[in-house]
Amino acid sequence: MRMRPRSIRARDTLVAAVIAALVLGVTAMGVDLAVRSAVEASLLRQTQVDARRVSGAVRDGTLDGPIRDGTRGRVLVQVVEPGGRVTNATPAATDRPPVSRVWPSSNLRVRDFTECHGHWPDRECLVAEAIRVSTAPDSVVVYSSARLPSYLVNGLLEAVLAASVLLLAVLAAWITWRVVGRTLGPVEAIRAQLAEISATDLSRRVPQPAGQDEIAQLARTANQTLDRLERAVARQRQFASDASHELRTPIAGLRANLEDASMHPDDNDLRAVVRSALRDTDRLESIVADLLLLARIGTGGSAAQEPIDLGALAGAEVRRRTFTLKIVTELGGGVMVRGVRMQLVRLLGNLLDNAERYAESLVTVEVTGADGLALLTVTDDGAGIAPADRERVFERFTRLDRARSRGAGGTGLGLAIAREIAQAHGGTLRIEDHPAGARFALRLPLE
Ligand code: ADP
Repeated sequence: MRMRPRSIRARDTLVAAVIAALVLGVTAMGVDLAVRSAVEASLLRQTQVDARRVSGAVRDGTLDGPIRDGTRGRVLVQVVEPGGRVTNATPAATDRPPVSRVWPSSNLRVRDFTECHGHWPDRECLVAEAIRVSTAPDSVVVYSSARLPSYLVNGLLEAVLAASVLLLAVLAAWITWRVVGRTLGPVEAIRAQLAEISATDLSRRVPQPAGQDEIAQLARTANQTLDRLERAVARQRQFASDASHELRTPIAGLRANLEDASMHPDDNDLRAVVRSALRDTDRLESIVADLLLLARIGTGGSAAQEPIDLGALAGAEVRRRTFTLKIVTELGGGVMVRGVRMQLVRLLGNLLDNAERYAESLVTVEVTGADGLALLTVTDDGAGIAPADRERVFERFTRLDRARSRGAGGTGLGLAIAREIAQAHGGTLRIEDHPAGARFALRLPLE
């Protein structure tokens, strides 16, 4: 069996009730003790006055007959001989046996005590003082006693205190139950709404309470997360549809060619058909390879990374290629970054492919390091990219210039891959202002 209640509301209520009961219980015990000792002290003071008056009278030999009682029976005074006979008493104490068997010794002649006799409901408690009149062996003893009020004898005081503690603890629990219930109400509303939101319908939002408290913040964060999820799912869907569209075009071309060749074998140059089919297959292959690469970037973790001299890497890549136009390099030495060599080569390759494709006559590659960042720029002197398109071109399958891009074998994934690689390396890839042409700037943290 679980000992802890499952709901926060029940748990807080239980804790509040237990704490209230403990604190109030200790307080009640203190009150009980204080009341008892105050009442006993006050009664004892009353009995002491009479005890001393009567024992003085016994010693002086002036006590004769019944003892005068100025308290209307509240204080009982008896003078008792060693044998237990009551010789003198106040009227209320005359017909009763000695109030106590306590017999003060000759060296401790005065004794104060509280004594109870009998059983409920006839139980009686007396606060008493006993004075042995002299040190002589046959000295009489004067008892002066007063009854404790009944509420201290029959437990009424404790019962009232316990009931108060119980009542207040229940009150504390009730208030906690209400307050926590009201506080957690919005949480339940948020939970219910979240339970209904699924991947297929991310348009719903959780109710957002007014204010700035934790629950309002939770609701706001949940809604922001839903916003991001909705956008991500939309992007993913768009990507899937774009990808299938991209794949369908070369497949359709391939199929048309092959069908035509199989229906009219004599009208077709089989070599040309095969060449065209191979071109389409190449294109399919490169799209699929790019898609796979996109899915894999950043999944290798830091284990796959190594220290790389960015200037040397760019120099090697430029030398490896054959350019149809002029290429200028300005490569700073010792610009070290951590990265996956294959991926950085791919990133630079994509930028160079584009620059070559869109430049008029000149491509410039620069590598510098400053302020903890390595900066690699690829600049061309082509038509450039309008500011409004500078973010869009990094999206998958965006082509500003369809005919030219596809004609040159572009998959429309080049810049998306390049940016993904930059981000997987903790860097950025942006298009920056340049007087003429396009300028791509890659920034990576220096090692
Ligand atoms: P693609 O495979 O079509 O080249 P990219 O992702 O590499 O795909 O580029 C996306 C689009 O960005 C290109 O179609 C082109 O319109 C534009 N673009 C890229 N680089 C340049 C550049 N250096 N100058 C002008 N436009 C560019």
